[in-house]
Amino acid sequence: MQDELQEASRKTPGQRARMSEVERLRHSCAHVMATAIARLWPDAQFAAGPPVENGFYYDVDLAHRISPADFEKIEAEMRAVTKANQPFERIVVTRAEALEYARRGRLAALSDRPAPSRFKLDILEGIPDGEPISFFRNGEFIDLCAGPHVMRTGNVGAFKLTHVASAYYKNDEKNPQLQRIYGTAFKNKTEMEAWFTMLEEAKKRDHRKIGAEMGLFAFDPDYTGPGLPLWLPKGGAMIEELEKLARETEFAAGYVRVRTPHIAREKMYLTSGHLPYYAESMFPPMELIEHEDQGARALHDPDDKFDRVLKSLQYEQHSPKEVEELVGKILGASAEAKHADADRYYLKAMNCPHHHRIFAAEPRSYRDLPLRLAEHGCCYRYEQSGELFGLMRVRSLNMNDAHIYCTTEQFAAEFNAVNEMYLKYFKIFGLEKYQMRFSTSAPEGMGKKYVDEPALWKQTEDMVRDVLKNSGINFVEAANEAAFYGPKIDVQVWSAIGREFSIATNQVDFAVPKRFGLVYRDRDNTEKTPLCIHRAPLGTHERFIGFLIEHYAGNFPLWLAPEQVRVLTIGDDAALVDYARGIVNELRANMVRVETDFGADKINGKVQRAEQSRVHTMLVIGPRDMAANAVSVRVHGKGNQGARPRTQAVADILAAIKGRTN
Ligand SMILES: [Zn+2]
Ligand SMILES: [Zn+2]
Repeated sequence: MQDELQEASRKTPGQRARMSEVERLRHSCAHVMATAIARLWPDAQFAAGPPVENGFYYDVDLAHRISPADFEKIEAEMRAVTKANQPFERIVVTRAEALEYARRGRLAALSDRPAPSRFKLDILEGIPDGEPISFFRNGEFIDLCAGPHVMRTGNVGAFKLTHVASAYYKNDEKNPQLQRIYGTAFKNKTEMEAWFTMLEEAKKRDHRKIGAEMGLFAFDPDYTGPGLPLWLPKGGAMIEELEKLARETEFAAGYVRVRTPHIAREKMYLTSGHLPYYAESMFPPMELIEHEDQGARALHDPDDKFDRVLKSLQYEQHSPKEVEELVGKILGASAEAKHADADRYYLKAMNCPHHHRIFAAEPRSYRDLPLRLAEHGCCYRYEQSGELFGLMRVRSLNMNDAHIYCTTEQFAAEFNAVNEMYLKYFKIFGLEKYQMRFSTSAPEGMGKKYVDEPALWKQTEDMVRDVLKNSGINFVEAANEAAFYGPKIDVQVWSAIGREFSIATNQVDFAVPKRFGLVYRDRDNTEKTPLCIHRAPLGTHERFIGFLIEHYAGNFPLWLAPEQVRVLTIGDDAALVDYARGIVNELRANMVRVETDFGADKINGKVQRAEQSRVHTMLVIGPRDMAANAVSVRVHGKGNQGARPRTQAVADILAAIKGRTN
C-alpha cells in the first residue's frame, strides 16, 4: 500500500532513469491498455498509469463500470495495438502547447474531444517549472508522459488484465473516485505463464494457511492485539532451532551475546534520531511520574526539557527554522499529554540504541575491537492495521540482530565476514538465488537526506564496494537510496518457487556512534569513534519463518521440522509398544522432537496422518522390526526407506540434525 502511495505521486527524473526494463515494459503496456480503452470508450478520462510491483495500473474515470467481464474485449483491442507494432514517439512540447492539447481533450485520447483532459491538465500544473514536458505518441494515441518506454508497442510480448479496484485521484478521498485497472505484462508468453504458475503455487504455500494447518502460530486480535503473533509450541520449536543456528554461527564468528530491556526513555530515541523522524512507526509513549526520582524532578523544569531536545538536534545539520519546528512538534506533543512533566518511555523499535549503550557501559580500548554484540531482540513497530499481513507485516518482531563496532582498518574484514555468514545461511536453507542491493548516497543529498560527511561517505562506500567486488557476491548498486546514517545493503532472496523476498538489511553506520558519544582509546592514547555495522542475516523470526513456510511448503528439513520424528507401531501389542517407547526415550534424551502413535488402529491410517502433519521421519515398528532390533524408516514425501538397525536409524537421525542436512 505504501509503495502504491509512492507510485501514485509523480516520479522524480532520477527515479524514472532507474526504472528497470520490466517496469518500462509494464508502464508501456499501460499506454497500450489506455489506447484500447480510448478506442472502446472515447470519453474515458485518464489520470496516472505507473508500473507497480508485478504489473501496472491506469486510473480512469468513465461512466461505464469496467468489470472483469470487459477484460476480454479490452485485451483483444490491446492485441491489435501490439500487433500494429506502433513506435513510442517522444514529443517535447512547451507548457503552453501542452495546456492547449489538454484543453482540446487531446491528451490520453485518440483525437480532440468535447471535454478537456481534466486530470492531465491538473498533472501539468504539478510539473515544476524548468522540467521538460513531453508527450508520448503511439499511433493516434497521445499521452502526457515523461517516460521511459520500450521502443514499440510490439515489445510488449504478453499481457493480462488482472483486476479492477476503485481509487481516489492522487489517493486523496477529497478527489473524485476513479476505476483503477490492473494488469501485468512480460517480455513473452513463456515468462507470463511461469509467473501465473508461480502465483498458483504461492497460493498453495500461503504461510497463513500452512501455519494454521501445522499449528505454528496464532493471532488473537481481541486479547493480544492485531499484528502480535502468538507462537504455538510447534512454531516455538522452529524459533528455538533458528536461534540455536544463529548462536552457534555467531559464537564461531566471535560474537558475544547481550540482553536488553524492551523499553527505554525518550532520551534514548532522541539521541538515536528515531524521534521525531520515526515516531509514526513507534508505539505511543508510556508516561509515568516518579516524584522521588532525581531524573524525574529534573524534567519538571520545562527549560531543561527544551535544552535536552535542542542538544539532541544539534547532532544533525538543521537550519534554525527546522530546529524550531521539530522542537515545537516534540514539546507540543508533550503539552497535549495528561502529565506534561511525566517521564516518557517508549517500546523499542530497534535494538541498536540499546547496544550502543552497552558499548558505552564500559571504557573501551582498541584492544576490545572489533566488538560484536548479538541479541535476538524483540522490537515493536506501529504498522497501520490495514498494512498488517500474516507474519510478513507484524507489530512485534524478533530480530536476529547484531552490531559490530570496529575501526576503519578492521571494517573490510568484518564486513566480509558478515557476507560470508549470509552465504553460509543461504547454503543451509538451499537458497540458490539471491541478490544484494547496495544503496549509496548522492552528492545532492549531502546535509539533507544524508548526514553531512562527504569524505566518510566516500570512504565507507568504497570499502563496501571493494568487499562486494572482491568476494564475487551478486550485487547491484542503487545510487541515492542509502539510509541517513550510511550506506546499506538489502538482501533479497528467491523462494523455491521463484518468488522474491526482502529478508534482511545490512547497514554501515558512521554517524550514530558519534551521536551517542561512543569512543575507544586508540593505540596513540587518543579517543576515537568506532564504525558500526548493523546486520541481521536471518531477519526477523516472523518474516523469515513466513518465508521458510513458502520456501519449503511446510516440508521442513529434519533439523527445523516442528515434529522431527513420529514412532508408529503396527498394532498395540504391549511388548511392541515397550520396544517403541525405548526408541522414543533414546531420541528424547538426545533432544529430538518425537511424538508417538501407539493406538490399535491400522498402520496405513497412522502413516497417512503423519504425512498430513508433515512429520519429517516416521519410524514404523512391527513384530519383525522388534525381533531384529530394527525399525522401518519412512521419510515425508520420500516414502519408505526400508528397515534399518535401531542404532543405525537413531545415529542417522542425530547426524542429520547436527549437520542440518535434509
Ligand atoms: Zn508513459
Ligand atoms: Zn541496528
